[in-house]
Amino acid sequence: MTGAVVSVADIEDAARRIAGHVRRTPLERSAALSELCGVPIHLKLEHWQETGAFKLRGATNAVLSLSGEERERGVVAASTGNHGRALAHAAKTAGARCVVCLSALVPQNKKDAITALGAELRVVGKSQDDAQVEVDRLVREEGMIPLPPFDHPHIIAGQGTIGLEIVEDLSEARTVLVPLSGGGLIAGIAAAVKARSPKTRIVGISMARGAAMQASLAAGHPVEVEELPTLADSLGGGIGLANRLTFSMVRDLVDEVVLLSEAEIAAGIRHAYFHEREIVEGGAAVGIAALLAGRIEICGPTVAVLSGRNIAMDLHARIVAGADGLEDSA
Ligand SMILES: *Cc1c(COP(=O)(O)O)cnc(C)c1O
Repeated sequence: MTGAVVSVADIEDAARRIAGHVRRTPLERSAALSELCGVPIHLKLEHWQETGAFKLRGATNAVLSLSGEERERGVVAASTGNHGRALAHAAKTAGARCVVCLSALVPQNKKDAITALGAELRVVGKSQDDAQVEVDRLVREEGMIPLPPFDHPHIIAGQGTIGLEIVEDLSEARTVLVPLSGGGLIAGIAAAVKARSPKTRIVGISMARGAAMQASLAAGHPVEVEELPTLADSLGGGIGLANRLTFSMVRDLVDEVVLLSEAEIAAGIRHAYFHEREIVEGGAAVGIAALLAGRIEICGPTVAVLSGRNIAMDLHARIVAGADGLEDSA
């Protein structure tokens, strides 16, 4: 064993810290999926979280864990997606300075969403890597605190509070289906669920197009994969070659990883819309999609975590009209 792992006690601390700052989301039984699978299927409606994704839990826990002096120095990240939004929101709540670094290629609506939450923007270079160089500079020269999207103990513990809620609401859950990218979400949920209910299976689900954690598990160490356009855009990106926490936690706690095609993910978005009346982004639809595709071994009550709803609505409209991928205009 190397390095610290996040324990259920850390996750219980996180739950106390973030209570009142984030929503405790409902767990709803899906009539359509329960009928299809022959066991109760429940959906954890985490896409109802403020800012539209679960990342507010980890970001809030991390920001509220800072000392007064650290809050003064402020927090910084390079994400323009759900983590950047969550961090800006959490920093505003805590009265901390927040800088989000991004490249000149990021569209104006995403910039507006971040400045609307009171964060400062630094526009640098033409890629995510250039933005990360600016993060590193602000940490080095201005003493800002970097809060990355997944590989950080307070971020993982915050996401793990979802696992505590699942076990509280459905102690008989036998399988939990969790979207998987950098692994902060599934590492936290697995640490919480396995501590309370050791026999419950934890299944990670990624898109086949650029599944960095699955490739790293297969190699036995973190590896880079080519990043490809996918409907599950919030599941893209690497796990970091210098990954400290999530790789080993996923390796040790997650029972199985399932990879899905773009058409399977599109079918998950459609099912959520027409049968559950929920709008979810591609990365959040993968649990439903894996059940529909018959890719999950059914062994009792099952929970699928719906992780976010921040999909461009014109893309959502094309998918519900029948498109099976980003380029398919159906
Ligand atoms: C970030 C994100 C994920 C993946 O979380 P990781 O901790 O990187 O595995 C899944 N769904 C949504 C909507 C996200 O924003």
